[in-house]
Amino acid sequence: MGRQRISLIGVPYDQRSSYSRGAAEAPSAIRDAWHRASTNMYAEDGTIVDESLVRDEGDVVLQEEGDSVDVIEERIASVLSSGSAPLILGGDHSITYPAVKAMSKHYKGLGILHFDAHSDMYDEFEGDRLSHACPFARIMEEGAVTKLVQIGIRTLTTHLREQAARFGAEVHEMKDWTGTEHISFDGPVYISVDIDALDPAFAPAVSHREPGGLSTRQLIDVIQRFEGRAVGADLVEFNPSVDRDGPTDMVCSKLLKELAARMSRDNR
Ligand code: MN
Ligand code: MN
Repeated sequence: MGRQRISLIGVPYDQRSSYSRGAAEAPSAIRDAWHRASTNMYAEDGTIVDESLVRDEGDVVLQEEGDSVDVIEERIASVLSSGSAPLILGGDHSITYPAVKAMSKHYKGLGILHFDAHSDMYDEFEGDRLSHACPFARIMEEGAVTKLVQIGIRTLTTHLREQAARFGAEVHEMKDWTGTEHISFDGPVYISVDIDALDPAFAPAVSHREPGGLSTRQLIDVIQRFEGRAVGADLVEFNPSVDRDGPTDMVCSKLLKELAARMSRDNR
C-alpha cells in the first residue's frame, strides 16, 4: 500500500475576522516560504515534504459574500472523495467550520486537536454566528465530532468557560500547561492550528496578538507526539500584512512540513 496523497488547498478568506484583515494573503505567502531556498524540504522526522507528497491544488475560488461556507465544504469533500487528505491554508479561523463539516461526513468518530490562544466558541460574535470567534461552537452543536481538545488557550471569558463545559471540550489552558499532558484520540483526528496559539515572540504576524503562548518547539512536539491518526489539518490566521521581515511565514512553512509529515506517517 502506497502512502496517501496530501492535497494542499488555499482558502484566501478573511471576511469573518473581527479585528483586522489580512489572512486572505496567507496561502500565497506560506507557499512562497515553503519553496524558499533558505531551507530544505525535509520535516524533522526525515519525511520529504515536496510536491510529490503534497500536491498543491491551488485556492478555493470564493465569491464576494454569502456562500463561502458551502463552497469551502464542497471543495474539501471533493478532496476527500478523491482519496486525498486535505492540508488547508487559511484564511481566518471561520474556514474550519465548513472544513470540519466535510471531514466529519467522511470520517465517523472524528476528533479535533485545536491549537489557539482563543477557544473560538462564542455563541455569536458582534452578531455573526459564523465569525472566526465561533467555529467550534458551530462544530460542537452539530454533534458530528466525538472529541475536541484545545491547547494554548489563554483568553477565556465566563461565557467561553460555560460553552466549554456545555460542549464537553477538553481544554488545556496555557496557565496550566506543563508539556507532559497525554493528548490522545481513539479515532481519526483533524488538526486545526491557529498561529496565534504561539507566543507573539515566535509568530508576531497575527491579527490578535496574545502574549503567554506556546513556543514553536512546544507546538511541533504536540503535533508529532499526540496519540491518534491525523487525517487532515488546517493552518489559519497568519496575517502577512504585518509580517515585516518574517519570521511568521517561515514558522507557517515549518508547520506545513511537520503537519504533512505527521499525516503521511499516520496514513501509509
Ligand atoms: Mn482561532
Ligand atoms: Mn486565535
